[in-house]
This record gives sequence, structure tokens and C-alpha cells, in this order.
Amino acid sequence: MDLNNFKFNKKYGQNFIFDTNLLSAIVRDSEVTKDDEVLEIGAGAGTLTEVLSKACKNVVAYEIDNNLKDILNEKFSDKDNVKIIFADALNTNLCEIENNFKNKYHIVANLPYYITTPLIFKFIESEKVQSITIMVQKEVAERMVANVNSSTYGILTVMLNFYGDVKITRMVKRQCFTPMPNVDSAVVKISPKIAACDSKIFSDIVHKSFAMRRKTVLNNLSAGYKVNKNIISEWLSKNNINERARAENLRVEDYANLTKTFDTITPYLS
Ligand code: SAH
Repeated sequence: MDLNNFKFNKKYGQNFIFDTNLLSAIVRDSEVTKDDEVLEIGAGAGTLTEVLSKACKNVVAYEIDNNLKDILNEKFSDKDNVKIIFADALNTNLCEIENNFKNKYHIVANLPYYITTPLIFKFIESEKVQSITIMVQKEVAERMVANVNSSTYGILTVMLNFYGDVKITRMVKRQCFTPMPNVDSAVVKISPKIAACDSKIFSDIVHKSFAMRRKTVLNNLSAGYKVNKNIISEWLSKNNINERARAENLRVEDYANLTKTFDTITPYLS
């Protein structure tokens, strides 16, 4: 592969992986099989794309950087189960992306950190997505799987675990990337599940509950919904939630229960 003339572009968060053992391990973590279709986002030099193409039925890979066109087109010219699309995956319409797939598909990606979270939330509600295996910054991975009552348990943890089952499949040292980034990474696998209740109301309750981390959920929800504390208190007690609890003390299940009993406060909303 001739990357000699290629200039890594900071703007696109380019940190490539060349270690084939690591690439194979990521593909193993994704558990894709020969029957599966895969969406890769951020093909880079196509190293992960290549390993994926051998493990699954077909790969559709998005890459934003046109400077990688020659390298990628040449590398996959003789592979008929790989399709490279030069476009911004975050700003491409979901339907347009999904038109590339006959059936359900898996997402596997090593991408820039600043787009991992928006990307996960773009795809996680799609019924066609079977799993998302993605490289994230180690600290973000830890927040994704944080335990209730811990300081890292937050909006990301609750929202993600509402939409899916999340696990860290491996830690990846910064030395594994070219060029080397300033942080270590982790691979996480997310398996979407059917939402147990209305996701808009759920999300709204979670965001309002965490508005001020040091305040109680009672105070945050009262301020957020502009509803008298007595009413909020009744709503909490109906769901066996302590009045003095903070947002980090509520499990995903507690937020789901609040969502299901949201009608307790709807008459009082202005
Ligand atoms: N998957 C490769 C490359 C990782 S670097 C590997 O593991 O080696 C991340 C890649 O994502 C870069 O090539 C970058 O240009 C690309 N990228 C960044 N933002 C993107 C976006 N919005 N849509 C598609 N590709 C993007």
C-alpha cells in the first residue's frame, strides 16, 4: 500500500490501524458472519475494510476524505463485495445509507472520537441495525458501561443502555494507531433492543434529571417541567424513587418507570 504521498488530516481524526491481529480481533468482537452485510464508517486506508470483507458477505464503507480515493479504489478494484462511498456518513440521510443493504446490517467502525456519539444515536433507533461495534476513547467507553451511583454514570450511560445492551470487548493502547493519538481507546459492542417506553419522553426526563448533577431529581424535574414539587414528589413515590435521590442514583428502569407514569404530571404542564 502506498501511503507515502498521503498526508494525514487532523480535521478528519485520522488514526489508522495496520496491525492485522488487532483488526482481526475487532472483526471477531463484532461477531459478523459470512451471511452478514456490514456498514463501515471511515474506511481510511481500508485495512479494517479488507479484514471485514473476508469475514462477511459484503461491506459498504463510507470515507469523507477524497485524498484516499486512489488508494481505496485501487485496493478494492478486484473485490466485488466491497463498495466505497466517498461522502460524510454523519450528514448522509439514513434512508440513503440503508438503501445499500438488502436486509439488516451490522456497523463496524474505527472513527474519529468526536463523531462516535452522534453516529451511535443516528443509527441506534433504526430497525435495520443489528449491532454496532465501534472504537471509542477509553473514558467514553467507561461512561457507556458505568454503574449506577458512580460519578461517571450520566446521560450517555442511561440513554445508551435504554436503547441497547453495551459491553466493552477490548482495550486498545494508543500505540496501536498511526499517527498515535493522545488517548487510549476501547472497542464497544452495542446490541440494540426494543425501547420499553416512549423514547422522546424518556430522553427528556433523563436530560432534565441530570441538568444539575448536585441537585436532587425532585428539584431538577420540578425546575425542568415547571411543576410544583408536591406533584413531582407524588410521581417519584409512585415509582418508589427516594425524594432525596440524585440523577446518578436512578437506574435505567427507574427512568423507564417515570416515562410510563408521565401522565401523573401532564395535567400540570404549561
Ligand atoms: N478505519 C480506518 C481509519 C480510521 S481513521 C482504520 O481503522 O485504519 C478514521 C477515518 O474516518 C478517516 O479516514 C477519516 O477520514 C474518516 N472520517 C472522518 N469523518 C468521517 C465522516 N463524517 N464520514 C465518513 N468518514 C469519516
